[in-house]
Amino acid sequence: MTARILNGNAIRDQIYAELQQEIAALVPAGIRPGLAAVMVGKNAASQIYVRSKIAACEQLGLGSWLHAPPATVSTEEMLALVEELNARDDVDGILVQLPLPAQVDTKRVLEAVDPSKDVDGLHPSNLGRLISGRQGLVPCTPAGVMEILRRSGIPLEGADAVVIGRSDIVGKPMALLLMHANATVTICHSKTRSLSEVVRRADIIVAAIGRAAMVEPCWVRPGATVIDIGTIRVTDAAEAERIFAKYPAKLARFREKGSVLVGDVHPDVAEVAGAITPVPGGVGPLTIAMLMSNTVKAARLRRTHATSAVALRH
Ligand code: NAP
Repeated sequence: MTARILNGNAIRDQIYAELQQEIAALVPAGIRPGLAAVMVGKNAASQIYVRSKIAACEQLGLGSWLHAPPATVSTEEMLALVEELNARDDVDGILVQLPLPAQVDTKRVLEAVDPSKDVDGLHPSNLGRLISGRQGLVPCTPAGVMEILRRSGIPLEGADAVVIGRSDIVGKPMALLLMHANATVTICHSKTRSLSEVVRRADIIVAAIGRAAMVEPCWVRPGATVIDIGTIRVTDAAEAERIFAKYPAKLARFREKGSVLVGDVHPDVAEVAGAITPVPGGVGPLTIAMLMSNTVKAARLRRTHATSAVALRH
């Protein structure tokens, strides 16, 4: 069997087309949704992520602002910046790019973000809303995975889903969203016994581990749907050769560039799975699409329904 490839770029384009209509519908009310990104210091990966988020805002005609405090910034200075952004009416979404430097109290900063502008869905108020299935802003990567599953017609009701990874940002909200969609969910982590056997029972496997090509073909029940959230840059030639033994074009590109992007799922799983997301071009584009979607939703809720925004704040 060769798996159906779940193309994240195509699904992102569908979502952007829908968002463009929503954005146009806000124009008569004088509303142009806007996202403020806060990026501390000069972390190369953060710079790439933030740049692509700002580029997506520009593509969709959303307002965007980049705040780049120095790496020496204090918690108090970060809190003052967040307060300033909370108070601005033209800022609908506030994105604090993680990680923050060690001297900054990350939890205090994230909790200072107005929940109605918390487009990463990381405020305890939004996480609580997610647990109880109430309207709120949902973390972007798990929300994007739900869009991939829904728009690809993967049946969720009654399905056995296994989520590998239990981080606050990805694994836990992913499991909650699948449960709300009536899947029967098992959450696995580094202490799970007989991990491969647990995974092999799943109709839907979501891997959010951060370990290159860890999920092997023999872990996957033939026909299962496999969502690969992991994004790991491999620079070791022996590891790249082990992973991409059957993919000469990938290996040639590795030799040219000296690195290759790999997911948590071994590429040979595509020979067993029924459907699979590629890396890159699977979940990644959806994470940015859902950030855009959350920004538009935050603008709609806060600026057109004042009571919804008040509800989100409490
Ligand atoms: P994280 O906070 O490091 O969490 C990793 C999880 O995997 C933990 O729950 C950990 O278990 C579990 N784990 C680690 N080693 C394991 C093992 N050998 N067996 C079973 N479970 C194991 O990472 P994250 O933030 O959730 O991100 C996960 C991956 O997704 C990373 O590669 C990240 O770059 C990627 N990511 C991609 C996107 C995107 O847009 N594509 C967005 C976000 C994240 P314990 O809890 O027991 O330690």
